[in-house]
Amino acid sequence: MNVVLSKKELERYKRQIIIPAISKNGQKKLKKSKIFIAGFGGLGSISSQYLVAAGIGSIKIIDKDVVDISNLNRQIIHWTDDLGKEKTVSGLYKLKKLNPHCNIEAITTELNETNAFDLIGDAHIIVDATDNIKTRKILNKISIARSIPFIYGGVDSFNGMVTTFIPPDTACFDCIFPKDVKKTETVGVIGPAPGVIASIQAMEAIKIILGIEGTLKGRLLYFSGMDMEFKELIIEKNPECPTCGKKI
Ligand SMILES: [Zn+2]
Repeated sequence: MNVVLSKKELERYKRQIIIPAISKNGQKKLKKSKIFIAGFGGLGSISSQYLVAAGIGSIKIIDKDVVDISNLNRQIIHWTDDLGKEKTVSGLYKLKKLNPHCNIEAITTELNETNAFDLIGDAHIIVDATDNIKTRKILNKISIARSIPFIYGGVDSFNGMVTTFIPPDTACFDCIFPKDVKKTETVGVIGPAPGVIASIQAMEAIKIILGIEGTLKGRLLYFSGMDMEFKELIIEKNPECPTCGKKI
């Protein structure tokens, strides 16, 4: 598919088009790409804005919740006037105002085994912005089945972690989180923690689309906001993994 960048788009993206690793050609790649974001909370608030602002052609976001007052400390796409609105409605409105060149769809629903394939459709990248293991395991399965990069992110208090799973080359989510962890209690989160992690997720998505090396493929990056440190862990495929390992 051939895409054309209008004069307005060339002006809008001028500061990134002048980066040699992007150029007009890369900007066209961004415009041709489709990204699926699961969740419009702390992580989705940030990654969606950077991806829309960067000129991703199509973005689909899902979330089942309405805006609650306790969301506002970190889910900064939602404002006080949005209390009680569906997050998809509140978030979609802002994203469309941010960049009218981007084709954005926001659907109020809960991802499950039945609807996940259809919802993710022909997306090129899955961005995890959920807050639960169950949904991540569904996203992981589809990432493997369709060979779609899956950018995982998670936060807790001042900290967070992020990595990119690229099937079939890397470990998958189930290789490193094999157990079904039941969500037992609400975790505390200070807003900049999802801000850091979701910004990295958006950067990963952009680099994958542009074909730039040096992503978090095979590395789990851990961010401690408390100690202000980044640490990384090399992650490897688990041959016994029930999801991506060799079936006996
Ligand atoms: Zn695996």
